Amino acid sequence: MSIFSPTMMKNRITDITVEDLKSLGIKGILLDVDNTLTKFHSQVLTKEVEQWLQTIANAGFKLTVVSNGLPKRVRPFTKKIGLESVSFSCKPSPLGFWRGAKRLGCSLKEVVAIGDQIFTDVVGAHIARVKVIQVMPIELETNRPSIMFKRKLEKRFNRRYIKKHGVEL
Ligand SMILES: [Mg+2]
Repeated sequence: MSIFSPTMMKNRITDITVEDLKSLGIKGILLDVDNTLTKFHSQVLTKEVEQWLQTIANAGFKLTVVSNGLPKRVRPFTKKIGLESVSFSCKPSPLGFWRGAKRLGCSLKEVVAIGDQIFTDVVGAHIARVKVIQVMPIELETNRPSIMFKRKLEKRFNRRYIKKHGVEL
């Protein structure tokens, strides 16, 4: 499998079902924040995402956050959702994923990362040797040229993946 291809692809994090997670044979989840759980740099948690987190936790999955954001951005949010976090994780470095898995008491085979960026979340998960579910970004950061460039590249990979795997988003 290509280092740019996720294990599974969904439109929104809330589209991931308990059955999807069970089919991956995992016990723990390493969550990205920006554009996965919230809009970029937002502290707002929508009711849908809050309910999803509750449903997943109730089904017995362990959750933690692994984010490239700085602690001052990540902690107030993770406190709100009652989760621990690894911030400033420097994805695609595998270290944050490894720390997150350890914190959950899971082996690398027992966790899945969920995130919206191919070059940090998907590639980093492959380097860390964990499964990864790629979601589409909640909002495009049109005021940030460097990210817009990455998003353009991502679109090509996404199109290829969608065609090959017959994904419906
Ligand atoms: Mg993100």
